[in-house]
Order: sequence, then C-alpha cells, then structure tokens
Amino acid sequence: MFRKILIANRGEIAVRILRACHELGIRCVAVFSDVDRKSLHVRLADEAYPIGPAPSRESYLSIEKIIDVARRSGCDAIHPGYGFLAENAALPRACTEAGITFIGPGAEAMEALGSKTAGRQLARRCDVPTVPGANDPIENPDDAQALSQNMGFPVLLKAVAGGGGKGMRVVTCDAEFRPAWRDASSEALNAFGDARLYLEKYLEKPRHIEIQILADAHGRVVSLGERECSVQRRHQKVIEEAPSLVVTPELRKKMGDAAVRLARAGGYVNAGTVEFLVDAHLNFYFLEVNTRLQVEHPVTEQVTGLDLVKLQIAIAADHRLPFAWETITPRGHAMEVRLYAEDPDNKFFPSPGKILSCHAPSGPGIRLDEGVYEGWTVPMDYDPLLSKLIAWGNSREETIARLRRALGEYTVTGIKTNAGLFRRILAEPDFLRGEIHTKWLDELLQRSSSVARSFDEDPKTDHAADAAAIAAALWQTNFSEKSSGQPSSGQESCRPSRWKQEGRRQQLDRRP
Ligand code: ADP
Repeated sequence: MFRKILIANRGEIAVRILRACHELGIRCVAVFSDVDRKSLHVRLADEAYPIGPAPSRESYLSIEKIIDVARRSGCDAIHPGYGFLAENAALPRACTEAGITFIGPGAEAMEALGSKTAGRQLARRCDVPTVPGANDPIENPDDAQALSQNMGFPVLLKAVAGGGGKGMRVVTCDAEFRPAWRDASSEALNAFGDARLYLEKYLEKPRHIEIQILADAHGRVVSLGERECSVQRRHQKVIEEAPSLVVTPELRKKMGDAAVRLARAGGYVNAGTVEFLVDAHLNFYFLEVNTRLQVEHPVTEQVTGLDLVKLQIAIAADHRLPFAWETITPRGHAMEVRLYAEDPDNKFFPSPGKILSCHAPSGPGIRLDEGVYEGWTVPMDYDPLLSKLIAWGNSREETIARLRRALGEYTVTGIKTNAGLFRRILAEPDFLRGEIHTKWLDELLQRSSSVARSFDEDPKTDHAADAAAIAAALWQTNFSEKSSGQPSSGQESCRPSRWKQEGRRQQLDRRP
C-alpha cells in the first residue's frame, strides 16, 4: 500500500479523498494556490505546499508544479479528484516518468475513452448504442450543416473536448446553424483551448442515467449499478439519485453489460462512469465516459456500502477487487444535492465571500461532504461548490424526507446558497413522482416568474434579513455610545452575526 498520497485538487473532493487516505493510514499531502492557503483541505492534510497564484493554469493545472511537490515530499501516488487535471492524459504520463503511481486509468485508456468522439467510436465497435450523429470532429461547418439537414433538426453541437455543459448549442432549424456553430466553437476554444466540434441528434427530454464501473488490473470489471442525474440546470447535474425509478432489473443488466464491455474494450482500469441518455421507451444511448471519480459518487457509496475512493487506491496499488458483480446488491435509496455558493435570485451568479456562520445538518441517514468552514472566505476563482449533502433511506420517500429535514437544518450566512432551490424541488409533485427529464428543471425555472420568491419558500430567510437590520441598528447605537464616551463591552464587530444566528435559531425552534 502507498505511504503518502498527494491530492492534486481542492475543496470538498480533496477533503473526501483525504479522509479515505487517513482511514487507510496513509499520509496526505495537499497543494494549494494563494487564495486557498486557509482552505479546509489544507487544514486537514498532514503536509501542504503552495503551488502558485489563484488562476488554475498557474497552480492546480500545472503538472510540473504538482510532480515537483510530489517528489519533494516523497509521495508514492497522486490522486487527481475530479476536474482540473483528472482527465488530462499528460498527468498519468508525467507520473509514470517520475516513478509515481497515478490513481486512475492509464493514459491510453483515458484517451481511448475520455474523448467524446473516440468514446463514441469505441462504443460503436463494441455494440453499445450511441446517439445518432458524427463520430469524428467536423472541421468544416458546411459539412456539419449538411449532416444536420440529413438527420433533421433539432441537433446538438458539442465540443470534442467538452465538459461541464460548455461548448454545447441546440440548433432547432437551418437559420440558427451558423450563429450556433460560431458560439459553440468560440466557447469551446475559451474553455478548453480546443475549438473542434461534432454533432449529435438532439433527443427531446431524455433521462440522464449513468453506470458506475470499477475495473482492477487483473481483468475483473464490475458494474455498481446506475445513478439517475436527470435534474439538471443548463446541462449541469444538480440532484443525483440511485436507484433510478425507471430502471428495471433487465435494463440495469443491459446497461451494466454495455458499460463493462466498453471498459474492457478500452483497457480501462480503476473507477469510471459510463453516461447514457434514456428515452421514453427506455432505449439507452451512450453519451460519454468520465474517466475519473464523479462528483456524485457518494450516491453509489450509500446504496452499495462501498468506499469508492478506498477502492480506487487499492486498485492503483494493484490489489484485486474483492467482490464480483453478482454479489453487489444495492440497498435502499440515496440522493445527493450539490450546495453551491450562488445566488438563485440573480441568475445563479456565483456568490463568493466570507462565511459568517454555518450549521451542518446531521442525524439519521445524512452525510455531508463538506469543503468549507465558518470564517473561511469562498474565493471567486473556482467552481463555487461548497459541499454535497447526501441522504440515505429505506425508500425514496424516506430519503426525500430526510433530505428535506437536513436542508431545513442547513444554514449558512454571509454568502448566498442554492439550498432554497432544493427545498422547492423536493416538494414538486413531478419530482416526487419521479416524472423528470433533463429539461425538467430548466422548464420549472422558466415558469417561475420570480425565482427569488418562489424558490426560497423557507420563511427564515425573511427573518434573517429582519435580524440583520435590527443588528445593524443596534451596532449603530453602540457605535454612537462609544464615540460619545459611553462604556462598551468590546467585541462589537462580532455582534451582528450573533444576532443573526440567534434569529435563525429561534426560527428553527418555532418550526413544526
Ligand atoms: P458535458 O461533458 O459537457 O457534461 P455531456 O455529453 O455529458 O456533456 O452532456 C451533458 C448533458 O447535456 C446531458 O446530461 C444531457 O442533459 C444533455 N445532452 C447531451 N447530449 C445530448 C443529446 N444528444 N440530446 C439531448 N440532450 C443531450
């Protein structure tokens, strides 16, 4: 087993990996940019090293700096987490050169499966159905337009190097084609340094269902079942759950077989996810492979009882998977919400800033994969994911009830979060019935004339504003007393947030 692992990441995922390492008795090395000096992952690590200024290109995306820290600190392995360098084949290559183990697939498998077009080609070769469309990047927009006319609109332009919903445009008619092509390719160039596009038939209102796989270096490949990620905003997942309400045991087996076939064909080793779109008739179509740990991996962990990060580490250390596919029997239901520092009242703009107070929910069936703490300042430089809140229950109903209860307990002041959005979604009849698709949330948001009022139905928001106003008035009075020479107790600057906290506490106490 490894002695010391460098975590080439930040935020909640760095903390998640660090916890797995500590449970295995492995020391952890954190890396951090200038703005992350006081981050939670730095606080919890055994050692931490600065790797440069805030822009990712000069810190978390610098392979040279990361390998240098790994060498200097005597690490024998690197875990990339997700995002940043996790799907960049240059990192496993640099690790091999440096004699350090990369906790993830090899560079060749990453390239064979990780690129959207290469993945589609491999899927077709091993009889995994793909969404109709191009299997190669299309250089010439005339060719792309002709293909769209042949296939029929709507089509979806997609960046070859895509991720995070960037470089994607739906084209519903011929007239929209050229502007959409220009927008998608320039967005792709900005986001990935690669303007190449391809296109797929745009499926109307599909579900997003993905299969988690694990593969060891000794030929065993297993499927851990599905996660449903159909609640999305602008092609980005916001709620994930397992099992999916529409996946029958037969469909689960078929999708699992397809995912395992693909992983084998690509010589894949370690944890990976094969994503599919599923139509109303339960036909499934390959979308892409994520050659890394997913944000939503805890959903699978909660229903299988497995620790995917520990298994990733064991596989990288050349251990055999200690179970066969047939022995995995998912239990109960799990659901995850992604808590972001963003402002639903203001087009979901990021809401960085200092966290004045926060209360973490707990209790039966609740897991919080936290990346922040009270007093810490959420930087504006990165994805504003604060934490992931995961609930487990014996049934979907119990899971939702627990998640709603936990969201009621969750309070953060100082920054805005999207917690109110989840409170609303979890009360929506369509969601409760499981009648969802990938455009469902976008449509719901469009229908709400005022996101501000409709999405934070939690009454304590208004009271918090009242408490803040009262606190400000009291502070002002105190300040005047002080300047007029009256005695004061000191610590005045802390008072506003205490008032706010007290107001929130009383609100919670009064709730049924
Ligand atoms: P990214 O890698 O940028 O996340 P994906 O290919 O994984 O892009 O797709 C993200 C989401 O975009 C999907 O979950 C789905 O909602 C939507 N999407 C992608 N391809 C299609 C398609 N052909 N038809 C309809 N929706 C699609």
